[in-house]
Amino acid sequence: MTLLCPNCQRELEPSATDNHGGYCSHCHSNFHSVAYCPQCEQPLEVLQACGAVDYFCNHCNELKSKRQVIYRLEETH
Ligand SMILES: [Zn+2]
Ligand SMILES: [Zn+2]
Repeated sequence: MTLLCPNCQRELEPSATDNHGGYCSHCHSNFHSVAYCPQCEQPLEVLQACGAVDYFCNHCNELKSKRQVIYRLEETH
């Protein structure tokens, strides 16, 4: 998966620790992905159990499939 910097649209260098994050060598910024609900666009709660990751929407009050989840890059401070 190629991630593009939200600031300058350049390709991010993949992060070693975060599968959905990266570093922009142009802006010198780190980014990580935040999961959002595909229905209501609220941030999802990430539930980690036994190596599996589930996404739960507190607004819809139900689990969301990983394939439906919307990832948005946000700067890490
Ligand atoms: Zn950038
Ligand atoms: Zn929702």
